[in-house]
Amino acid sequence: MKSLIHIYTGNGKGKTTAAIGLGIRAYGRGFKVLMVQFLKGADTGEIHTLKKLEPGFLLYRGTEIKKFIWNMNEAELRQTARIQQDIFNYAVDAAICGGWDMVIMDEILGAVSSGMVDLNEVVQFIKDKPDNFELVLTGRNAPPELVELADYVSEIKAVKHPMEKGIPARKGIEN
Ligand code: ATP
Ligand code: MG
Repeated sequence: MKSLIHIYTGNGKGKTTAAIGLGIRAYGRGFKVLMVQFLKGADTGEIHTLKKLEPGFLLYRGTEIKKFIWNMNEAELRQTARIQQDIFNYAVDAAICGGWDMVIMDEILGAVSSGMVDLNEVVQFIKDKPDNFELVLTGRNAPPELVELADYVSEIKAVKHPMEKGIPARKGIEN
């Protein structure tokens, strides 16, 4: 089976959960699934679920970040950028040598659009990568260069979100 490339993008809710759902489906068919999360610090429910599915479905976050990037000073931004670059390097090595059948790079598009991971490096990785794993990218603002290289591109549009009514993030739903 030829491996393909997926993008979940857009401003609506459901990109990360769609990617996890796809991973769960693949895992059920015996795929070894690696999910690498960029720009994530807070505790989220999937950490606890996926712990139970190790080692066949592994979640990797690297060093945790503690703040939203718009609240960071210059030094914190530089450090966070280095961490995101390290996470990307880990993801690339693992994708190429780790024996995974599906690699999910969650919120990598956010890391690219905030300038923390270089778009050209992601493009080069996709062009050079072996064809033996399904690749899934998520995050808002998918750049046209990556849309061009992907096979599935799904844009989730926010029609309504309870945040607009002042309903804060709920445990088990948003996190
Ligand atoms: P989820 O993790 O629920 O699948 P997502 O991956 O599509 O959401 P992100 O852009 O990664 O969403 O946003 C992270 C957080 O922001 C999540 O808690 C998500 O539910 C929430 N969120 C998503 N879309 C919106 C929106 N349009 N307005 C406000 N908050 C949102
Ligand atoms: Mg997300």
